[in-house]
Amino acid sequence: TVAIRATDLVKSYIAGVRALDRVSLEVSSGEVLVVMGPSGSGKSTLIRTFNGLERLDGGALDVLGVRLDSTHADPQVRAIRRRVGMVFQQFNLFPHLSILENISLAPVKVQKRPKAEVEQRALELLEQMGIQEQAEKYPAQLSGGQQQRVAIARALALDPEVMLFDEPTSALDPERVKEVLDAMRQLARGGMTMVVVTHEIGFAREVADRVMFMDQGQVVETSDPVTFFSGA
Ligand code: ADP
Ligand code: ADP
Repeated sequence: TVAIRATDLVKSYIAGVRALDRVSLEVSSGEVLVVMGPSGSGKSTLIRTFNGLERLDGGALDVLGVRLDSTHADPQVRAIRRRVGMVFQQFNLFPHLSILENISLAPVKVQKRPKAEVEQRALELLEQMGIQEQAEKYPAQLSGGQQQRVAIARALALDPEVMLFDEPTSALDPERVKEVLDAMRQLARGGMTMVVVTHEIGFAREVADRVMFMDQGQVVETSDPVTFFSGA
């Protein structure tokens, strides 16, 4: 089944300049799509439209059966934010909350789920991310790679059906990149539908089902990783 169908997406921040210039694509359930392309080509804008963070100027999205378009209707946007998790380049953790509290906050406050159950799940996610011993610490006490894995766990705690990643390793020291990519690889193996903006060619080769290349707001190429990186 199709998780995301984008049809002729158009987005302009400045009149006459299109950050997205008629972008169409499909992402199947369980698929990993890696989006590559030069800085300013529209990658970040594109995936931010997938959970309603950016309002479209034209075209339409079907995300998990919910329609998003230029009307940017509130109920649709809210419905989709709950079901699509996102991880950014900057980890955006709450500095004054412990790791466990960072992960549990939204499930408890927004989803109104029982605290004990949420914390149990948070601990499982931390274990899955290989950082269960950090639960009681605060963000500043963790390395960048650990903080980013907390950010992934925090997104997963809301039980999303799709995960979006916007250059998740670009703010990390080189030696920390692998641990985050490994966590993402494990998530992909578990069948998560993922759209990943990244410059990590190794990750794209090994984990992507398809690789898409953008330039100047347009999709230039979409193919399987072997074809994509063969330079054909
Ligand atoms: P990428 O993620 O590929 O680097 P972006 O989606 O961030 O590309 O940006 C696409 C284009 O839109 C660029 O020209 C960028 O400068 C512009 N842009 C992005 N965000 C904004 C914004 N908030 N206001 C104005 N222009 C923006
Ligand atoms: P990314 O490529 O991950 O979007 P950027 O450094 O391009 O990272 O953008 C960081 C932030 O600045 C984003 O929130 C983006 O929307 C905003 N931004 C990017 N380009 C512009 C621009 N030309 N004018 C205003 N805001 C921008």
